[in-house]
Amino acid sequence: MNEQEMLSMYEDAGALLNGHFVLSSGRHSSRYLQSALVLMSPANAVALAGELIKKVNAAEIDMVVSPAIGGLVIGQEAARQLNKPFIFTERKEGEMQLRRGFTIPEGTRLLVVEDVITTGGSVCECMAVVREHGGKPVKVLAVVDRAPNAEGRFDVPHETAIALNVETYAVDDCPLCREGIIPVVKPGSRGVA
Ligand code: ZN
Repeated sequence: MNEQEMLSMYEDAGALLNGHFVLSSGRHSSRYLQSALVLMSPANAVALAGELIKKVNAAEIDMVVSPAIGGLVIGQEAARQLNKPFIFTERKEGEMQLRRGFTIPEGTRLLVVEDVITTGGSVCECMAVVREHGGKPVKVLAVVDRAPNAEGRFDVPHETAIALNVETYAVDDCPLCREGIIPVVKPGSRGVA
């Protein structure tokens, strides 16, 4: 599958919308993206995880980890295809933690899988937790990168299946607002994905 075919998968699922949206940052954008709608279809999860794991050498990782909630579905499916154990970190009272009795043997090499990255904040917090527990993050894979030109987000290599350059605007400098189009707030785990 090429990038355009993967984007079509988002469009077909109604997960890539064109319009006028308020992002979680408060900025406005003409595009809105929600991976959960694509991953509703297990066949889509299989296909997207299959594309992602082409970017990693299975012999170089021992375990897969994802930050909840966004990374859970794609991370579990990637781990299944790689035949590696899967764990996740999650926020409790805002702080990323390893819970549920998960442990990471000292020196374990982990692949970090996420659905959408922008600033990469959740992934970085997830990697910090992994390191606190003795693990070694070796690579980050995400289905969608909403800021493919951003640099210095991660201290390990990262790759994505879809690079989506989403232009965003300050509220007082938004061409869509100037056209008089009413902005729409879309629900998501942290507002608009
Ligand atoms: Zn606007």
